[in-house]
Amino acid sequence: MSDYCSQCTPYEKADYNLVKMALELKRGYSFSLLCEGCNNRAIYKDETGRLYLYRAEKDNPDLQPLEVSLDEL
Ligand SMILES: [Zn+2]
Repeated sequence: MSDYCSQCTPYEKADYNLVKMALELKRGYSFSLLCEGCNNRAIYKDETGRLYLYRAEKDNPDLQPLEVSLDEL
């Protein structure tokens, strides 16, 4: 069974609801996910409450942090 995040799921219900996960995340913590549909790999909330989405690029296996807002999740 494949898992999809809320950004790319073809179904009504996502296995990873990124907004819900971001809201529940405590500052300074991260949450890992393995989405089969896109390259999202983790969400991190820093000490000031900023959110970062970590994506794996095809040509670059290192995760690239991308600052995001709740609206973008
Ligand atoms: Zn996804």
